[in-house]
Amino acid sequence: MKKVVILGAGSGGTLLANLLAHEFRREIEDGAVGVQLVGEGDDHVFQPGNLDVAFRGSDPASVVRRESSLLKKGVLQVTEGAAKVDLEQRVVTTRGGSKIPYDHVVFATGAVADPGLMPGLREGSLNFHEGPAEAARIWAALQGFEGGTAVVAITRVPHKCPPSPNEAAFMLDEFFRRRGTRGSVKIKFVTPYPRPYPAEQVSDVIQPLFEKRGIELVPFFAADHVDAKAKKIYSMEGESVDYDLLIAVPPHRGAEVVRASGIGDEEGWIPVDSRTMKVRDHPEAYAIGDATSIPISKSGVVAHLQAEAVAGSLALELRGGREVFEYNGRINCPMETGLRRALFVSGTYDSAPRRERPTLLRYAMKREFASIYWSTIQGGWSWLMDAYFGETSEPHELPA
Ligand SMILES: Cc1cc2nc3c(=O)[nH]c(=O)nc-3n(C[C@H](O)[C@H](O)[C@H](O)COP(=O)(O)OP(=O)(O)OC[C@H]3O[C@@H](n4cnc5c(N)ncnc54)[C@H](O)[C@@H]3O)c2cc1C
Repeated sequence: MKKVVILGAGSGGTLLANLLAHEFRREIEDGAVGVQLVGEGDDHVFQPGNLDVAFRGSDPASVVRRESSLLKKGVLQVTEGAAKVDLEQRVVTTRGGSKIPYDHVVFATGAVADPGLMPGLREGSLNFHEGPAEAARIWAALQGFEGGTAVVAITRVPHKCPPSPNEAAFMLDEFFRRRGTRGSVKIKFVTPYPRPYPAEQVSDVIQPLFEKRGIELVPFFAADHVDAKAKKIYSMEGESVDYDLLIAVPPHRGAEVVRASGIGDEEGWIPVDSRTMKVRDHPEAYAIGDATSIPISKSGVVAHLQAEAVAGSLALELRGGREVFEYNGRINCPMETGLRRALFVSGTYDSAPRRERPTLLRYAMKREFASIYWSTIQGGWSWLMDAYFGETSEPHELPA
């Protein structure tokens, strides 16, 4: 039997497992191919929904489903988490101590938002990156916030969903406007970048909107620590920003299993070929989504398109082919700009994001995606995704 083991049952890992289960349904039934998905527990979170929990008061339970209900027949689910991968021996050891041998392994272990990586951050701030429970604490804090300075801060990069801090600032502005208390709240946006968004073309659109909505930009602020008692966030240069409410994007790192397996960089991101998604020096191993060190958006769309590319490559490899699919770097991150408008940040490795005006249609598309997400990671809506994204990966012959 040829066995593929996928680590991480999030957006990328779940889709990949389902695509392989569909592709190899006969071989799986015959016992010629095995697809095993190693996750942590049985909860699957639709992470973009954290913003709705934090700023619209959605029920945290509404963004979570059972992973087992999302998997196609033929996927063997393991819920105890992976402790370590021995890439030489090709064996995964689970946290429970079981050994799972494989022919191909795929790391889809995501990124961890970890406030513990910055002194004072855990005590002094709230965030919507760790999960829906933490996001719900923002909604609770907003209910009692009568006035003062609300700060949205990017403490370090990279982090999941680059537009999400901008969205948080716009959604805060909208929240206070709808409450009728906007006049008594100062909103500050603290960022290490020189502008509101890393890509200049997008920033050119965001900057005037910040000015119009009265969101004050604090650029070039490389956060160092938070003094929770004094309610101040400090930069490495010793500057500080006072706050009454601090909503901070925590520093992110790769999953612990990456470090334990000795393949990540200092922060636990996995070096891969940015087109084939193969782990450097390990042609039988792949990494997709947030787990990699590729300098593009850590986003669900990227994880989705890379999962499709790797599913294509594995289908060829398991059947003895000599080709591999190459992902073209397509990104597509929606950014809500408040008051029912959104824009998309989209590009590829070869084309920078375009300047785009926020529209109601983009907002509707973003909102609607929440309901089709669960189907997309089961392989549904692929015709729509293909029509929208075009060819995002193509097979290429491997060098001899
Ligand atoms: C607030 C917010 C808003 C966002 N908005 C958008 C958006 O609008 N559009 C968009 O495209 N993306 C958005 N994203 C980003 C998107 O959710 C992630 O980029 C996407 O989920 C990445 O998919 P992934 O499969 O790489 O990782 P994840 O979906 O995070 O999955 C990783 C999985 O690996 C598991 N894991 C970790 N370690 C182990 C281990 N040792 N053993 C087994 N399993 C392990 C984790 O439990 C997790 O389930 C947003 C994220 C946040 C936080």
